Amino acid sequence: MAIGLRNLSFLLLPGRCVLCELPTLRSADLCLTCEQAMADRQSRCQCCALPLPAPGWCGECQRDTPPFTRTITGCDYRDPARTLVLRLKHQRDLAAGRALAQLLYHHITPNYVGDNLPDGLVAVPQHWRRTLARGFNQARELANHLGTELGIPVIDNSRRLRHHPSQQGQNRQARLRNIKGSFDVRKTLDRRHVAIVDDVMTTGSTVRALALSLQEAGADRVDVWCVARTALEK
Ligand SMILES: [Zn+2]
Ligand SMILES: [Zn+2]
Repeated sequence: MAIGLRNLSFLLLPGRCVLCELPTLRSADLCLTCEQAMADRQSRCQCCALPLPAPGWCGECQRDTPPFTRTITGCDYRDPARTLVLRLKHQRDLAAGRALAQLLYHHITPNYVGDNLPDGLVAVPQHWRRTLARGFNQARELANHLGTELGIPVIDNSRRLRHHPSQQGQNRQARLRNIKGSFDVRKTLDRRHVAIVDDVMTTGSTVRALALSLQEAGADRVDVWCVARTALEK
């Protein structure tokens, strides 16, 4: 129903590209040219999607295997994807959010050929104080779009216990220490296969902590879907 209505609205009101503002000429928020310009041609770690010179496992995942099975990402965290992420996050630009969800969606289905799609999506929860300040949770916005497109329910069983004003400028070890035990997940995931949905994955410390909590809540397998991935900082 939601997909039908969305396609109908694109038919009645031809869409404009959220980046170049030209007509998209299709039921999408990005025109084909902008979408192709954002296409991901990067080799990545098979587990955490870190950019690598060749496909394989990155050093960090080999040293300390993450509690998630695989990470699907739409692109690197740089412009123009970065601009769209910031527009979604700080200006609540929902068309930018839809475009980012579509970008990620195009990477999900081909990557699950021969593998099972998750049966539930979990948006990385925000602390309530941040949701109050921002008015919404951008990860939830992305999860809602992907859930609708793929017919997978979004599970609302997690909350963020601690408010971290900003993790910027902290190294990976400090972030991991800070974020441990930050999530409270209701034990409702009896042997389920879930995917964590987030906008940007930086060091991976947030998804590591949430994936551990989801496993403790009974999840059998946890995947990660993030719109954009940064290179690892030192
Ligand atoms: Zn465009
Ligand atoms: Zn890795």
